Order: sequence, then structure tokens, then C-alpha cells
Amino acid sequence: MRRLQPKHLVSAILDWSPTQRLALLLALLFGQLLLYSVWGGFVLYYPEAQSYIRLSVLISLFPLYFSLLIYLAILYFCCRILSHHPHNHWHSVMQVVVALSLAIGIPMLATLGGLMSLGAGMLVLGIPILGLFFFQRWASYLLFAVSVLVFVVLVVATAFDYLPYAPLLTDQGLLGGKNSGFWLYSTIFFNLMYVGLLFGMIDQLIQEFKNREQKVRYLSEHDELTGLLNRRAVQQKIQLLLGRARRSTTVQVSVLVLDLDFFKSINDRWGHLVGDEVLTACAARLQQIVGDQGWVSRYGGEEFLVLLLQHSPQQAQLLAERICQGISQLQVRCDDVHSVQLTVSIGVASQAVDRVEAIFALIHQADQALYLAKERGRNQVVLAEPTVDQ
Ligand code: GH3
Ligand code: MG
Ligand code: MG
Repeated sequence: MRRLQPKHLVSAILDWSPTQRLALLLALLFGQLLLYSVWGGFVLYYPEAQSYIRLSVLISLFPLYFSLLIYLAILYFCCRILSHHPHNHWHSVMQVVVALSLAIGIPMLATLGGLMSLGAGMLVLGIPILGLFFFQRWASYLLFAVSVLVFVVLVVATAFDYLPYAPLLTDQGLLGGKNSGFWLYSTIFFNLMYVGLLFGMIDQLIQEFKNREQKVRYLSEHDELTGLLNRRAVQQKIQLLLGRARRSTTVQVSVLVLDLDFFKSINDRWGHLVGDEVLTACAARLQQIVGDQGWVSRYGGEEFLVLLLQHSPQQAQLLAERICQGISQLQVRCDDVHSVQLTVSIGVASQAVDRVEAIFALIHQADQALYLAKERGRNQVVLAEPTVDQ
């Protein structure tokens, strides 16, 4: 049975809880920092690197990297533990702690290779995206504001010589490496990793936006209980069918208006929940019988509308007879012992139409025919007399 959840709605990272997202961010940062350390170790044993990198500074960074790795791991496990306790005020504390750690840590890391470098620029640009993706909204503002502040402080401190510019680089490193494989690969290594992360986040954001749009569209076109098209969607389809067509185009349209017989008594006897189940079962049977011959919609409470194209009045009537029979054979269980059976009355109208209004007139005719079917004793199909189109 078609339910409200459309198939295409995959669970996206953005649907995770904020603390689970923080844990993912910390794991990614841990991986990134680990790769930086591996790069540092590689530099120590690569002779060409030493003309660009100050080894003394690099070596003094290892204990810092190591402490940071432990710090990230602790934060990660805190997040994992917290994610098992949804209603806990420590979640907000965690947001603040991680936001402040990044707001201070990222600009400090960027100073190592120079605040005016490509890598530093990308780190700064990435912060708002990182914030919006991984943090709660308020925490992303905190992250952005504090990191800008730290950047400004560092730039001013460098400008007034309180801090050296790019302490990790030698004078030759500051000029950039010409014809240097080491320089090229290092630049690619540092920037590609971060670009990959940003690309992944933007891709997820766009995907999430598309998913939500599809979900909203699905909700606006479908009936919540039965999953059938709703009245608005059918009207849109009718407008589309002839709204765009040229005046001379005529289409043979057949309309079936269905109303379940004595449905109120089912509600009265078994309650609304069973009533809902009966409605859902009828909708599913109706959809199964019509298949892709036409559009099936829930037009009102226990009324359905089927729109068929290129069916002669007799074909439409035949299909309506099959629906009548199919619904009368339904057995919907209402408890361990009893099951409900019911019937349906159907009004059919069929005509070649060339205007949208003509289809609405056809629905009205089918409605009148349905009225006759009820009067004549229900559980039957009545075909409306064709009218002369003006
Ligand atoms: P008739 O054969 O003349 O059509 O009789 P009826 O009882 O089917 O018609 P009536 O219009 O008197 O009652 C329709 C009932 O359908 C009343 C309303 O409570 C019920 N109904 C409408 N929408 C829903 C729904 O979504 N769920 C349930 N359980 N009942 C609904
Ligand atoms: Mg009714
Ligand atoms: Mg009814």
C-alpha cells in the first residue's frame, strides 16, 4: 500500500541529531589531523622538503598534534555517549565547546602556513559552511563570530610583529616552490582534502533541499490517509491536460465518481479507526483495478474520482462494473472475529472535450449519475446521458 513516505527520501546526514553530526565532524577532523601528522613525519625524512619547512617548528608541533588528537577523541566519545541521552542540557554545552575549539583551532592552524595563503583562505571560507552543516544554527553563528575575531587578532598580531608570519615555512617556502614536486603535492594534499570535505557538505545540503522539495510536493499532491492523489492534484492534472492544448484538440475523457455505501454506519458501529482502514483498503483495491489506465484520487471523505482518457463510455462503464464487484468482494478485518464488507455506487460520464470547463461539467454529470445510483438502491453503476457540447 502506498504510504506517505515516498521511496526517494533517503536518510541524510542533516536528519541526524545535532550531537550525532558533531560526532561525525570530530571524526573527520581527527582523520584530517592524523593525515597532517603523517605528512609531518614524511617531511622529516624527505630531504627536498627541508628547504621549505622549518624542521624545528615542525618537530615542536608533534606534541601539540598528539594532544589535539586526544582532545578530539575525548570530545568524540562524549558526543557518542550524549547521543544516547536525547533530553540532556549537555548537548548545548557540547555545541559551545566544539564551536569554540574550532573557532580558535582553525585560525591557529592557518597561521602556520601564512594567513594570506590559499589554504588559509579556504579554511576561512569553509567555516560558515562547516558551521551550518554540522552545528545548530545558533552555534554556527558563535563559531563564525569567534573565528573571525581570532583571525583578526592573529592578523593584527602578525602585522605588528608580535607573531612571525608563516612560522612553519623557511624563506624559500614563503616564496613558494618552483619546479618542486614536494611543494606541488603538499599544496594539492592540503587543499584537496578540504575542498573534498566542503564539496561533500554542499552536495548534502543541495540533496537535502531537493529531498525536502520533493517531500513537500508529494504532501501537497497526495491524500495522507490513502496515499491517492488529492482533489487539488486532480484539478491540476485536468488544467494541464487541456490548459496547454490548442483549441482544436479534443480528448475523450471519462469520469467515474464513487461513493461508498452506508459508510457512516461502519464508523458508527466499529469506530473511526476501522473506518479509516476500510477507506485505505478500498483505495488500494481501486488503484489496483484501475492500474495505469487513469488517475485515481480521493475527492472527499468517502468519495473517490477516477479520470480516464481515451475510454469509450462503454469501456468506462465496464471498468466501473469491475470496481463495483471488486469493492464488494473486499473483506476488512475489524477484530479477531468480525470483518466488514461494503459496496460502492458509481456515476460515470464520458465525452469528447476540448476545454477544461467541460471536464468540470463532466464531473458534475457523473455526480448526478451517482445520485441516481444511490436512489436506485446503491451497489451499482449509472452512466450519465451524453449531453450536446455547446
Ligand atoms: P450513502 O450510502 O448515502 O453514501 O451513506 P453514507 O453513510 O456513506 O454517507 P454519509 O455522507 O452520511 O456519511 C459519510 C461518512 O463518511 C461520514 C463521515 O464521518 C465519514 N468519513 C468521511 N471521511 C472520513 C475519514 O477520513 N475517515 C473515516 N473513518 N470516516 C470518514
Ligand atoms: Mg459521501
Ligand atoms: Mg457514502
